[in-house]
Amino acid sequence: MSESVWQALLYESERSGDSLSTVVDRALSTAFDLERHSLFQVSTSNALVQGVFQGAVTIQDLKRNGDFGLGTFDGLDGELVMLDGVCHRATGGGLVTSPPDDARVPFAVVTHFRPDLSLTIGPGSLGDLAAFLDGARPSENLFVGIRVDGRFGRLSMRAACAAEAGEDLLEATAHQSEFTVVDIDGTLVGFWAPLYARAVNVPGYHFHFISGDRGLGGHLLDMEAGPLEVGIHVESELHIAIPETEEFLTADLSGDHQEALHQAETADHRTGAGS
Ligand SMILES: [Zn+2]
Repeated sequence: MSESVWQALLYESERSGDSLSTVVDRALSTAFDLERHSLFQVSTSNALVQGVFQGAVTIQDLKRNGDFGLGTFDGLDGELVMLDGVCHRATGGGLVTSPPDDARVPFAVVTHFRPDLSLTIGPGSLGDLAAFLDGARPSENLFVGIRVDGRFGRLSMRAACAAEAGEDLLEATAHQSEFTVVDIDGTLVGFWAPLYARAVNVPGYHFHFISGDRGLGGHLLDMEAGPLEVGIHVESELHIAIPETEEFLTADLSGDHQEALHQAETADHRTGAGS
């Protein structure tokens, strides 16, 4: 190979901490379009609802499988936002820090985001964005990654705080940090998952926010926003990394936890409203 390619390989290996063969594999996969439409997920939403918060996969592993995604951290200690290959952790009040590559996550969803469809939409609420996306998605039965860039007039968010021992998701999110920010530039990193996937993922829309200066973020509860640039990435494969932690292997994951998941992940937990 040429000297310049060799130097680029060495540099990327040094930068990422990955072996040369991993870097070559990743570059060729991208060049040959092998990974374009696959979603990589750690654990399942049912396990999360049940309180399986023990980290199972490292940030470094996530980065091998995507450059865009969301999730949480070991012990439910913060919200994960991955954007442009960089991983961020939002904690109480939305304060963002950089997690080390060996930090472990109990739940995450990532993809190599390249928009299949790019559109601009006018000002509106989260409901308006959802309605727009409902019309733009190609099918009710495909997962999609969604990137939304723009200026947000108001964002209501939460950041999960470390769970106490033995707490499930609903109990743990009851003492989460909730906050509102106004007039801020940034990006929503999100996914839409089909209803049939409800035992493994969060059905419907799920967004995390990261500000343009990467200083503020969280799990989106509600918003009002200006005109927004929306990118949609259609996924045709789903890979699930099943945790081999004792906690996951011994959990009873047979139940239907939709109600609890919905309450924990939306603004409805304030009122206890059901659907
Ligand atoms: Zn979330």
